Amino acid sequence: MPTSTSRAFHARRPKQSGFKSTHNSRRSSKGNGVRKAYIHPSKFINRTPAAARAVEYTPTHLFNDFALTSELKSNLAAIGFTKPSAIQDQAIPLVLDGKDVIGLANTGTGKTAAFLLPILSQIDPRNDRMSVLVMAPTRELAQQINDECRRFSTGMRIFSTVVVGGTNIDRQIRDLKREPHIIIGTPGRLNDLLNRKALRLDDIRHFVLDEADRMLDMGFINDIRKVASLLPDSRQTLCFSATITPTIQTLVHDFLKNPETVSVRTGETSDHVMQDIIEANDKMHKHELLKDMLAKDEFEKVLVFGETKFGVQRLSDSLRNSGITSEAIHGNKSQSQRQRALKAFKTNTVKVLVATDVAARGLDIPNVSHVINFDQPATYEDYVHRIGRTGRGGAHGTAYTFVDKR
Ligand code: AMP
Repeated sequence: MPTSTSRAFHARRPKQSGFKSTHNSRRSSKGNGVRKAYIHPSKFINRTPAAARAVEYTPTHLFNDFALTSELKSNLAAIGFTKPSAIQDQAIPLVLDGKDVIGLANTGTGKTAAFLLPILSQIDPRNDRMSVLVMAPTRELAQQINDECRRFSTGMRIFSTVVVGGTNIDRQIRDLKREPHIIIGTPGRLNDLLNRKALRLDDIRHFVLDEADRMLDMGFINDIRKVASLLPDSRQTLCFSATITPTIQTLVHDFLKNPETVSVRTGETSDHVMQDIIEANDKMHKHELLKDMLAKDEFEKVLVFGETKFGVQRLSDSLRNSGITSEAIHGNKSQSQRQRALKAFKTNTVKVLVATDVAARGLDIPNVSHVINFDQPATYEDYVHRIGRTGRGGAHGTAYTFVDKR
């Protein structure tokens, strides 16, 4: 069932073209002589998703029922968290009990609070310095976890710091010297700091792997193993992941002790996203079509995905030149530039954020009205992940994918 918008843009099924079907074929086949297997987009673009509807979860606890500290409870009340989400409802008691936990949950389910709240509750601000280590795949996700942490721990005299690549390491070394209670970092930078002897992990009592599947996708396995090998044996380990793959299973087997599993996956996020394709003759045509779409009022907050860092920057510049407010995030931007771009998009200062897959991983951006795949994703997994940026929390979302007219 094509949408009215897609009709306006002549969305039809293409005869050929599609997403490359393997993980190894991320790059365009142009010029490298490698033949790529194609999957027709109509095979997986779900044009008739379930009606957008918030799925109500009835928690078995209230925050007050948990053995969380009274300061945390009053902070939660002040923030406006009235009832626990599914993952919080099920994971918080286990984490408070000291259990190792595997949490199967996507971003947007409240998983950050599911691990932060029970951990914060167990920290003695006077004695537990450098006692929590959280590993996350991207700089932005690490920053988001830190923002949540500060919100939850207001007035509790618990300090946290973020150590990620792309920002000045000397400053991070100085921050670590002050011995924060909680360290949140990306695997590469954590290893860098360990190699420089600027970080010691002897006192870590809680270790969290957030978005473990993404970290593995991004090739961080050795960094994770190295960090984990330096942690005390007598620690609690929590592993959050959207999927359980054989590699995750191995990781869990190696790092977690008698873990309890909590799963709140309720099918693919894309079930609530209207999806369609838009045929374009060539790159110029894609630009024109995109600008026409973005001129419409219903395209309120639009995340556009491109394949390369340069392509993403060029596209964002071109949109700006046409009078459409846009920012870009990709690996060639400094951490502060990325943060500024993200903030501008989150606060609706700009209408469009153009991003590469890696830069957009794990981001929690509420109310994205549309996801547009300007360049096709490399794999089905990437497709689902991209379009899962819209239609969150049961809200309505729409995703369009440009394909070549053949
Ligand atoms: P996360 O999945 O941890 O990235 O959380 C997604 C969003 O939901 C964040 O903006 C959280 O602040 C928010 N959130 C998490 N738990 C709750 C809750 N129990 N009540 C209301 N909002 C929540």
